Amino acid sequence: MKLNELTLTNPYLQLPAEFYDKVVPTPLADPYLIHANPDVAKILDIDEEELQSDTFVKFLNGEYLARGSEPFAMCYAGHQFGQFVPRLGDGRAINIGTLGKYHLQLKGAGMTVYSRHGDGRAVLRSSIREYLMSEAMQGLSIPTTLCLGLIGSEHQVRRQEIEKGAIVCRVSSSWVRFGTFEYYAHQGMFEELKALADYVIDENFPHIKGREDHYTLLFNEAMVITARLMAQWMSVGFNHGVMNTDNMSIAGLTIDYGPYAFLDDFRHDHVCNQTDVHGRYSFSNQPEIAKWNLKSLMMALSPLTTMEKLEKNLAIYDKIYMRYFHYYMCKKLGFEGTVEGDPELIDDMLDMLESLQVDYTLFFRTLSHYEGDRNALLATGLYHEPMHAWLDRYDERIKHIDATERKEQMLSTNPKYVLKNYMLQEAIDAAEQGDFSVVDDLFKIAQDPFDEHPEFERWAGATPKEFKNRKLSCSS
Ligand code: AMP
Ligand code: MG
Repeated sequence: MKLNELTLTNPYLQLPAEFYDKVVPTPLADPYLIHANPDVAKILDIDEEELQSDTFVKFLNGEYLARGSEPFAMCYAGHQFGQFVPRLGDGRAINIGTLGKYHLQLKGAGMTVYSRHGDGRAVLRSSIREYLMSEAMQGLSIPTTLCLGLIGSEHQVRRQEIEKGAIVCRVSSSWVRFGTFEYYAHQGMFEELKALADYVIDENFPHIKGREDHYTLLFNEAMVITARLMAQWMSVGFNHGVMNTDNMSIAGLTIDYGPYAFLDDFRHDHVCNQTDVHGRYSFSNQPEIAKWNLKSLMMALSPLTTMEKLEKNLAIYDKIYMRYFHYYMCKKLGFEGTVEGDPELIDDMLDMLESLQVDYTLFFRTLSHYEGDRNALLATGLYHEPMHAWLDRYDERIKHIDATERKEQMLSTNPKYVLKNYMLQEAIDAAEQGDFSVVDDLFKIAQDPFDEHPEFERWAGATPKEFKNRKLSCSS
């Protein structure tokens, strides 16, 4: 469809008035297109030719509102670094409407009543990071919000330095956060809380609608998909960095990309967020923090059911998480399923990788090609002995697995490329100078991370020493 043929709906506006605030986007001056995502356009049934039009730039800039659009910002609360903040909300993301089951937001489109001390803007740097990383997650089949397009401008945004303003059009089957439930629970607004739960069930969990105890089931669904998401993040080496409850999606999606990182060398206690001085959101804390966040969700949902029932659900989180984690890790290792001894083999592998300072992504990709000659694997680490010892056990484990099938499974499970922060920084530096070719290149590998892409070989190795394990600021 052409943009002027679209009709947006606004189902969230059927909720009571306390859920949102209607607000008109404040466009950026002289915007230009940096990238458009044809796959997301297809999902939304927008014609690909439209993506190169002036109207598309205006659409992303909030200047051209499609038919039916009634822009609004959503209200929510959240636990930030463990402290409850009773009112947050979309301070810089403006919803412009829904197409099919996807809700569109313009992030960086100006102030809303929830902006607090912020300016409602997003900088080019963080917008490129969100745009590329959501596509990379999609490429890795990890549940995520998506982006339809990215525009830049010369609009000046004050951060530590003056930066350029940008807008990403984000697309998701839900923008409801754990913190959205917390807002109404904390206010004692139980009718609203119920309306929100019903809305989410309708939208994201229709299979539990009308079932007995459906609010307990809603929690159960959120618990299971969160456990699975954590296992996926951990298996691929993704560190989110700001797992506040307002950044936790009720639909189990990776949401609100900030100072995230893919691991360089494997490190259990890697912290990617500069502001996180105590390492609350460190890499290995993620599954446990997700459980802490689920507990906050549980408290918020408790007026709709009983604590006893909810607690029973939360009690099985660890088991479910572990099951998913072992499932994804065994897949990475080329096993057909999980057998006794695999959890120890995985744990010992991670300790080995950490002690030898091995690049996490490179290790698995190299292991995918392993046929008995250990040289390439040994070259990924500092010392040989621990790797030999672990490979002896690995050899024993795979001796009855068909080598061709194992390789095939591993090459389609272990990406050759992940978007490490130094690569993103290269795209950002070029884009600041008006050159978007690195954004284009990273987009290609984000979409097909398992392909060889010989032209991008320089990004397939370990992270260059000077760029390893850097922390980023929260405004990323
Ligand atoms: P985040 O850390 O990006 O998840 O944001 C936390 C909260 O701060 C959310 O309510 C955001 O909407 C809000 N926020 C972040 N940056 C800005 C900004 N530049 N202007 C207004 N609100 C913001
Ligand atoms: Mg957020």
